[in-house]
Amino acid sequence: MKATFMLGRLAGIRVGVHWSVLVILVLLAVGLATRFPEAYPDHPAWLYALSGLAASVVFLLSLLAHELSHAVVARRNGVSVEDITLWLLGGIARLKSEAPTPGAEVRIAGVGPLVSLLLGLAFGFLAGLLASVFGAGLLVEVLAWLAAINILLAVFNVLPAAPLDGGRLLRALVWRRTGNPLRATAVAAGAGRALGWLLVAVGVYLAIAGAALSGIWLAIVGWFLIAMATAEGGEAKLRELLGGIAVRQAMGPDPVAAPVSASVAEFLASPAYRYRHSAFPVVDDEERPVGLVTVKAAADVPEDRRAATGLSAVMVPLEDVPTAHPDDDLVQLLPALESSSVHRALVLDQGRLVGIVTSSDISRITSWLSSSYSWRGRAF
Ligand SMILES: [Zn+2]
Repeated sequence: MKATFMLGRLAGIRVGVHWSVLVILVLLAVGLATRFPEAYPDHPAWLYALSGLAASVVFLLSLLAHELSHAVVARRNGVSVEDITLWLLGGIARLKSEAPTPGAEVRIAGVGPLVSLLLGLAFGFLAGLLASVFGAGLLVEVLAWLAAINILLAVFNVLPAAPLDGGRLLRALVWRRTGNPLRATAVAAGAGRALGWLLVAVGVYLAIAGAALSGIWLAIVGWFLIAMATAEGGEAKLRELLGGIAVRQAMGPDPVAAPVSASVAEFLASPAYRYRHSAFPVVDDEERPVGLVTVKAAADVPEDRRAATGLSAVMVPLEDVPTAHPDDDLVQLLPALESSSVHRALVLDQGRLVGIVTSSDISRITSWLSSSYSWRGRAF
């Protein structure tokens, strides 16, 4: 889920929005605005519309608070955070690595539903307070809805199934019991698929029984749960396969690098860079890596400007390129490689470029390993 546009940074964490969040915003705002007049008639139409919009915006902010709490606690537990994206089914806080211990996993996963629950209680308290002072009204209705939806969010999220927060809690529990994080992921992923199918079944039943919109919605949520749980399970298998392999064994050594002083025209014209790869490390005068340039980014520069444009203008700077040490575990590089737009990592040893690892290097290794795995399985 890539953000369509970035909102900015909160507590140092990048926050983005996927276009599908607009679907939620509009559905909720319209749904609420058409429901309010029944309960509280005799207000102007714009007030209903405004109330519906305000309620759904505050709901999205509550979602953001939920995700932000995951991100902040993750960082406090030594897990760095890629970014937060709000989308169709809520929010995703992407972490750069796994939680180091079951305890950290519990803290990172548990704080989100806790924040939603507290927000729900706070909105509920405000609604009750206003109702007792001024009596029932549109504002009380909005606050009561916000209370209910946040508490619902907290409850849904603690269902013990990946990729929900409850799935992470279940994973932490199995991890602590068995000492095996991969087995724990497999259990949580299995539960996620089961819950997903259950939601699809209930959704189809509701749709047939006449509640078409809620039914379809539930089925979509279920479908996403199945897909995401399956992806998490697959990732666990990948980690198991790659366990114990060092970056050194997977990297292409001594990659051809382009000098940062070169122009885009020189880079594109040189046969050294032209055919062999789709991206090259960029180094400074002292052969220190400063970034990575893709042939595509260079070729996107209009032809009449290529001679005057330096590589530094089109390269991805080093801080945005995943990097690793030759002795690092390959597995630890996976999250950064997956979320990186360049699909490559530079391997550095004491600041010097010694190799490059691409996503396709890794898939080649895994397919080789998984074939030898199944061979062993059959032979013994
Ligand atoms: Zn959460």
